[in-house]
Amino acid sequence: DRVDNPYEDAGVYVNPDWSANAASEPGGSAIADEPTAVWLDRRAAITGGSAGNSTGLREHLDNALVQAEEHENFVFQVVVYNLPGRDCAALASNGELAADEIDVYKEEFIDPIADILGDPAYSDLRIVTIIEIDSLPNLITNVSPRETATENCDEMLANGHYQEGISYALATLGDIPNVYNYVDAGHYGWIGWDDNFGASAELFHETATMNGATVDDVAGFIVNTANYGPTVEPHYTINDSVNGTSVRQSDWVDWNRYVDNQSFALGFRDELVRQGFNSEIGMLIDTSRNGWGGPDRPAGPGPRTDVNAYVEGSRIDGRYQAGNWCNQEGAGLGERPTASPVPNIDAYAWIKPPGESDGASREIPNPEGKGFDRMCDPTYEGNPRNGYNMSGALPDAPLSGHWFSAQFQELLANAHPPL
Ligand code: BGC
Repeated sequence: DRVDNPYEDAGVYVNPDWSANAASEPGGSAIADEPTAVWLDRRAAITGGSAGNSTGLREHLDNALVQAEEHENFVFQVVVYNLPGRDCAALASNGELAADEIDVYKEEFIDPIADILGDPAYSDLRIVTIIEIDSLPNLITNVSPRETATENCDEMLANGHYQEGISYALATLGDIPNVYNYVDAGHYGWIGWDDNFGASAELFHETATMNGATVDDVAGFIVNTANYGPTVEPHYTINDSVNGTSVRQSDWVDWNRYVDNQSFALGFRDELVRQGFNSEIGMLIDTSRNGWGGPDRPAGPGPRTDVNAYVEGSRIDGRYQAGNWCNQEGAGLGERPTASPVPNIDAYAWIKPPGESDGASREIPNPEGKGFDRMCDPTYEGNPRNGYNMSGALPDAPLSGHWFSAQFQELLANAHPPL
């Protein structure tokens, strides 16, 4: 039987591949023992052949059984990330499967994963699956007739393969009694606006109840996966106003209902339950790179001269715009992985392994299906999805998923809480 929160009273798997990379960096041993997720980002990763994971799934699980000996309960975190037409609004993490390869996804990706996870040898592990980041919300926000639409997202909405793939993954993996499926729910700087909030929750519910999936296949949702939005903005809230003007009217907040991921996660959880998900669902927040410490972090609220001055002076988020997502300069490690930090948040978790790139800053030919997204180019001046702002990306980045030493060093230097 599943428990309410798998992270409660449990150790969490330390991925030896990531741990070795972290430990090989100056200062990296301070965090090399932290748990990070294993990413299954292509079929070959199941047997062990991807940039961040040379170890196959079975070997990881065998390692997990050994690590579990020190703990009463033990969590193994794995990201399931290989949809057909993956990452339809960006290019950096386009994957190996073409838009129409839904059968390949089911038969050569989800089924073999389910065979391994369902092995009785692993039945005492609590297996947390992070399901297909950055996919469903794209079908709400990046499709026609919106100005932010992309051709690929229009195609994935029309062919239904994101929904079919995710419902298949939920149903198939959900049949394994010790699997806890967490569906990716974007982040506050994406789904926090009224136009996107309810529509996304509705799409999630529709998807979780098609093709044999049910709401019982969903343990919860994760926000901020591989993103940079703060867990909590400590110096201002959405309810603040300056001289009678709400911070919602500032350029930075721009009418969003949320200013950070924790308030969003809790608010979105309520909406998901309202749409029909179980009231026991829990939320995860990926805190691997949203610390924003270092010398530029504001120590207190900004001046109350007007809403823009107030928000600009208050916010710890150092990005040009909350839509920026690639290798952000100034970012730092966030909260260390923690179970049950507040009610209804099952854990702060490090899902994106710190030091693994979000995308290359220039075109790099590769056999992984990855494209060049100019959001990873520091000279890029933006597009409708980031309000035509500078990308804020670090220079000289390798392909997504590959080790990026300079970013790792920056994340250490700007960690908050500090190391
Ligand atoms: C990449 C994956 C990688 C993951 C974790 C994603 O951006 O596309 O290949 O496994 O990040 O670093």
